[in-house]
Amino acid sequence: MTHLNEFKEFLNNPRRIVIVTHHKPDADALGSSLGLWAYLKKKGHSASVITPSDYPSFLHWMPGNEEVLIHEEKTRDKINSLINESEMIFCLDFSALNRINSLGELIRQSKAKKVLIDHHLEPEHFADFEQWDVKSASTAGLVYELIVALGDRSVINAAIADCLYAGLMTDTGGFRHNNTRREEFMIAADLTEHGANPTRVAKLIYDTNSLERLRLTGYVLNNKLTVLPEYNTAYITLSQEELKKFGSQTGDTEGFVNYGLSIEGIRLSVMIYERKDEIKLSFRSLGDFSVNDMARKHFNGGGHKNAAGGSSKDSLQETITKFLNLLPDYRNQLNPEA
Ligand code: 5GP
Ligand code: MN
Repeated sequence: MTHLNEFKEFLNNPRRIVIVTHHKPDADALGSSLGLWAYLKKKGHSASVITPSDYPSFLHWMPGNEEVLIHEEKTRDKINSLINESEMIFCLDFSALNRINSLGELIRQSKAKKVLIDHHLEPEHFADFEQWDVKSASTAGLVYELIVALGDRSVINAAIADCLYAGLMTDTGGFRHNNTRREEFMIAADLTEHGANPTRVAKLIYDTNSLERLRLTGYVLNNKLTVLPEYNTAYITLSQEELKKFGSQTGDTEGFVNYGLSIEGIRLSVMIYERKDEIKLSFRSLGDFSVNDMARKHFNGGGHKNAAGGSSKDSLQETITKFLNLLPDYRNQLNPEA
């Protein structure tokens, strides 16, 4: 099923469909999934969205949120049978099955047709049909393009449009990052035409803070942001203890890594923080420095050239030390003038 017409033909009959996205989904992961979900339901399919973990409360406004199945103890059996009985599985906003933990193996073994819709570097190519484009700023934009390619532009309603717009807006950093092409504005314009409300979506995602999160932001900027001028690098670290002290919820650290990159001259910004069962790293860079390479090579991760993530099973302190010890190897790339 490598061609669009085979894919389209398959969807001519009502199908049992599962949509899966990555661990700790962000607005692009969840928005593209729920946008696609609402579209498939409108087309008469039965569809479910499964996430490998919970996600930030600033995404709970998305239409269809209450129907999302979060993979945990009490949903395990239901999710297993949905995957086993599905005829088609869409994998959105991630490019390798190992990124979704145990769900990945279930999906690999399932007989369902697999569809990958993604924009990350170096995909695994496990799918029967791929809508994969690294040039696309967002998976939501790829879902939009797929719907249009299927001849269903007119099926897009306000719910679908808001979900997709949310992914497009956040993965371009509010249409500011260097992945923002003419196409992103064209898609945004068409989604707006179909009922997306840019002001409302921006308010819900960017301008809705808990007091705890604002206090945590203040603490991080004041006490936890370290600058290493010799490497044009800034980094932030946060332990579970610190996160607990501020009553942090999932998603409260989102965007912190960007503060480092806003300092003049900084080319690499990293946020290293402790989750319950692992250490998570978030990388951002400017220009040619590839954080995808750094995350892939040293932290079991990946992503895009200028935005990537990874994880570690070492302690927080060991992970910080590992990161700092790597910097001399990258000195020339990070500080070309030195
Ligand atoms: P963030 O830092 O916002 O969590 O992620 C930045 C980018 O890197 C996103 O596109 C995200 O999907 C990707 N990413 C984050 N964590 C991981 C990871 O552990 N593995 C891989 N392969 N990609 C990641
Ligand atoms: Mn994305």
